[in-house]
Amino acid sequence: MKERIKDKKQDPKERVKNFKEVALGYTLQQAIEEAERCLQCKKAPCIKGCPVEINIPAFIGKIKEGKIQEALDIIYEKNILPAICGRVCPQETQCEKACTLARVGKPIAIGKLERFVADNGKQNLRCSVDKNSKLSGRKVAVIGSGPAGLTCASELARYGIEVTIFEALHVPGGVLMYGIPEFRLPKEIVQKEINLLKKMGVEIKTDVIVGRTITIDEIFGQGYEAIFIGTGAGLPSFLDIPGENFLRVYSANEFLTRVNLMKGYLFPEYDTPVSVGEKVAVIGGGNVAMDSARCALRLGAKEVTVLYRRTEKEMPARKEEYENAIEEGIKFIFLVQPLEIVGDEHGYVKGIKVIHNTLGEPDESGRRRPVPIEGSEEILPFDTVIIAIGQKPSPLIPMAYKKLKTGRKGNIEVDPETCATNVEGIYAGGDIATGAATVISAMGMGKKAAKSIVKYLLSRTE
Ligand code: FAD
Ligand code: SF4
Ligand code: SF4
Repeated sequence: MKERIKDKKQDPKERVKNFKEVALGYTLQQAIEEAERCLQCKKAPCIKGCPVEINIPAFIGKIKEGKIQEALDIIYEKNILPAICGRVCPQETQCEKACTLARVGKPIAIGKLERFVADNGKQNLRCSVDKNSKLSGRKVAVIGSGPAGLTCASELARYGIEVTIFEALHVPGGVLMYGIPEFRLPKEIVQKEINLLKKMGVEIKTDVIVGRTITIDEIFGQGYEAIFIGTGAGLPSFLDIPGENFLRVYSANEFLTRVNLMKGYLFPEYDTPVSVGEKVAVIGGGNVAMDSARCALRLGAKEVTVLYRRTEKEMPARKEEYENAIEEGIKFIFLVQPLEIVGDEHGYVKGIKVIHNTLGEPDESGRRRPVPIEGSEEILPFDTVIIAIGQKPSPLIPMAYKKLKTGRKGNIEVDPETCATNVEGIYAGGDIATGAATVISAMGMGKKAAKSIVKYLLSRTE
């Protein structure tokens, strides 16, 4: 069997000095060679592995023939954010995990091929909008412009529905803009894919905080017949240990928003200073922790260490990003749990008191539970701490609109089949419904909700 084709990456020694994209993507020749490895399986299990069900063998078949635009048109039928998904989807647990070749060797690099096609084809509206739809001119509101909201909006716009997205921040994109760093997902690419939505007729109103500057009832009052809520999981979790208020202790949300959305990495060109010391600790083991650690390194920290309470095996971060972090010199200390952040007399962090763990029985997530080892406490010296232990669903809308039923973790409860909430005409999806998850699962829910909204609008016509 032919080896999976590797794409080029920026040299680790160079890339730690800049915020430019790390993975450089396939050349045409490489894309064709990788496409030629695809078996074109009749049952195509890869399609089932993709939450938005892209016809993977069909688009790969077109790459094989060198027909890149046709490949992209096939992808657009199911996904209008391919340049984004090709870069950040956890393919190894989705489409690529389901690929037949994964059982005998390396799966087809579906994500890298999707990225190649998206970067090299032209955005095409032809396959997107149904001009003769019965729903033309009906109005639907989408709250939040992350992947869930964008996908829901694009699916509704295909029916000629007038969609308005209300977004709290000054730019659309959600985590794609404020969380995931430029070196993994260039912001120009995110905006290019969002622009396609605008061309489809979707209106995006930024700087509108639903629940503060406008209410849900006021939105209905403006003639919107249904509402989709995709407000994400933007509420950072903290450790609830002493010392979290010392200077240079950040939540990853705040840190990454300053660096990415407010362009702190371009200071002083952009007026967002981000104070990072020499020895940085990042607490957590997911994508957010990897992104925070790699940003801190690029901002000039001498040493960045990730502290994780379990082992490498249980880390939820994408494998590729963990490997990139190691190549860049990020250090890892496993099986440690912070007990206290220690500060100096000026109020700055000077270390973290930790306790070492061992692994016990699996918990409800199926991962082995960390168990503290008595007497193993020690203080590790750090001058900056970034807490990246998770995010909770944004509480603003459930707080402001009490009719919505919420779950134990603050998520909006929805019917998993339809994404309908307990309130007629209101649907929800993405991280606000599931808790922090992935771009593609948020997109899958946005799509499902759009289908239900279409049915709902049709039922109101009959
Ligand atoms: P979000 O992307 O959070 O978007 C919600 C939007 O709603 C935001 O723009 C917010 O401003 C807006 N909003 C909130 N409240 C209101 C309101 N009241 N009124 C109006 N607007 C409002 N997933 C992956 O698949 N791969 C990765 O590599 C990956 N890396 C990640 C790295 C980081 C740093 C983070 C934080 C997450 C990462 N994720 C990754 C997870 C992924 O980004 C999320 O699961 C996904 O963005 C969720 O999409 P969403 O549309 O539900 O919400
Ligand atoms: Fe795979 Fe994500 Fe592309 Fe679907 S959208 S084919 S899961 S990379
Ligand atoms: Fe190609 Fe793998 Fe899909 Fe088969 S399962 S069609 S080899 S991508």
